[in-house]
Amino acid sequence: MSKQQSDGGAALEQQDSPDATAAVRDAVIIGSGPAGYTAAIYLGRAGYRPLIVAGALAPGGQLVNTTEVENFPGFPDGVMGPDLMDAMRRQAERFGAELEYDDVTAVDFGDAADSAHTLTLASGERIRTRALIVATGSSVRKLGVPGEEDYSGHGVSYCATCDGFFFKDKPIVVVGGGDSACEEADFLSRFGSSVTLIHRRGEFRASKIMVDRVRSNPKITLLMDTVVTAVHGTAAAPAPAPAAGGFQLKLGGAMASKPAEVTEVEIRNTATGETGTLPVSGLFVAIGHTPATGFLGDAVAKDADGYIVVEGAGTRTSVPGVFAAGDCVDRVYRQAISAAGMGCRAALDAQAYLTA
Ligand SMILES: Cc1cc2nc3c(=O)[nH]c(=O)nc-3n(C[C@H](O)[C@H](O)[C@H](O)COP(=O)(O)OP(=O)(O)OC[C@H]3O[C@@H](n4cnc5c(N)ncnc54)[C@H](O)[C@@H]3O)c2cc1C
Repeated sequence: MSKQQSDGGAALEQQDSPDATAAVRDAVIIGSGPAGYTAAIYLGRAGYRPLIVAGALAPGGQLVNTTEVENFPGFPDGVMGPDLMDAMRRQAERFGAELEYDDVTAVDFGDAADSAHTLTLASGERIRTRALIVATGSSVRKLGVPGEEDYSGHGVSYCATCDGFFFKDKPIVVVGGGDSACEEADFLSRFGSSVTLIHRRGEFRASKIMVDRVRSNPKITLLMDTVVTAVHGTAAAPAPAPAAGGFQLKLGGAMASKPAEVTEVEIRNTATGETGTLPVSGLFVAIGHTPATGFLGDAVAKDADGYIVVEGAGTRTSVPGVFAAGDCVDRVYRQAISAAGMGCRAALDAQAYLTA
């Protein structure tokens, strides 16, 4: 086994392995959202040169698909989601982080004799690392109806905490039947002129206390046995030619310079088949999230819904040397700042592991 010192201070070990690309890194981070970039900034400043496997399709994470972020501290005038993530990437790179824009498809966690973990990327490349931080986030479940993608970020939202404030004194619709949907409806009733909670079944999945809360809230109307079948709104203005290196808003696949607005949703009663429309400015979809943890298999402990289980307030997983942070762990807070905070903790836990 030979050791090779990299210029950032991280030791790359050449190990006897059947794999040709067997250099063992000190730290690899999977995911390039707020959790992953923050972990990279901390590990970079500690002298490691972490590799971030950033994802092939959505480098930068969930905030790349949103417009204005008003609640990330340090930006009194708000910041565009893609700009915030670009700044985090540059800050991580400044301290020596390397990026690879690919997806991890599998991880072999080795055994007691070989404490390195082996990642397989979609390209087929193998990467070996002593410490691994999983920061792969989660994805929102979508309704999958016409118009939803087009107005995502311009009236269609998946986060009441993030976007409720934008719909002050405007009609709001929340879709869902679990605790999250009820909590979001209750929270949004502080802002909206009205809140209509639409659920496809005749009974809620939510806990009784949450159902009682929405039923007794005079601003909330319940529409049971009902589904949203389409989202309509004003058309976006066509985009001017982009300036070199310039940034444009992305509206569900089409590039546009002027935000469109949601004006109404089509609905259908699942029991009677009756159809209709509802005027709405903010459509909040609260039908759940899916943590991006399937590629880990069963070796790392997860809960029934696939969220990675960590030890107490730390970020250690059930596998030594593997840490997890952000929305792939956290089903409650789901905010950029809480994911970033957890990324910091994961980096500190990984450093403690690497120096033990
Ligand atoms: C539309 C929208 C608007 C939001 N607005 C706000 C807001 O205003 N304020 C706020 O605080 N929060 C907001 N949030 C929530 C916030 O975006 C998330 O809480 C935060 O991004 C979670 O960060 P994360 O690092 O855990 O994961 P993510 O941001 O989800 O990043 C995960 C990363 O992992 C990568 N990845 C996934 N699987 C793999 C794999 N197998 N291999 C390699 N890479 C992989 C993805 O490509 C991505 O880069 C919003 C969310 C959405 C969806």
